[in-house]
Amino acid sequence: RFITLEGGEGAGKSTQARLLEEALRAAGHRVLRTREPGGTAGAEAIRGVLLGHGPWDGVAECMLHFAARREHVMRAIRPALEAGSWVVCDRFADSTMAYQVFGQGVPRAAFDALAAVALEGLMPDLTLVLDIGPEEGLARAAARGETNRYESLDPDFHARVRAGFRAIAAAEPGRCAVVDATAAPEGVAAEIRRVVRARLGA
Ligand code: C5P
Repeated sequence: RFITLEGGEGAGKSTQARLLEEALRAAGHRVLRTREPGGTAGAEAIRGVLLGHGPWDGVAECMLHFAARREHVMRAIRPALEAGSWVVCDRFADSTMAYQVFGQGVPRAAFDALAAVALEGLMPDLTLVLDIGPEEGLARAAARGETNRYESLDPDFHARVRAGFRAIAAAEPGRCAVVDATAAPEGVAAEIRRVVRARLGA
């Protein structure tokens, strides 16, 4: 089973990915926990390029995300799924849709073309959208000392990203579940655990 966690800055995706991995392991599953951009040596190198340069042309930025994602899928995610592991991934294609298409205005057709080539139909079985207001999320990210170019972009950008994630979830309710990410980490983890049980029976 392939589970992704999505959301804006400071939503707590990485913490929740760790807690979900622990819970699934405790339930007897093998788990690959991974993240994007990144997850393989080459894709982590592309992450360094993405975060260390720019501002990027939006389409070029999408291409880099999908180049990293393709490596990640072919070398890590697909082999793990084929071996019977669960995969818990911190960000996936929905982040590219939310940040680059909704946030930056890249044409949806560019996203669709790249996704078709890179993913060949691979989609998560469940996507948990951790929802938090941009102001609260950015404050959390700032409190832990994170600085990168996105966090310095205007609040409207982050509002568009949030709206993007919510639109994706509304368009694909069978795959996605929106989780209130403003609660304490244990509360969010309990809600995630409940959703995973209800949707995937594990
Ligand atoms: O999730 P994480 O904090 O590791 O992401 C690193 C940075 O990359 C964040 O600032 C995030 O906003 C940005 N990002 C992006 N577009 C994506 C994925 C991540 O701008 N498609």
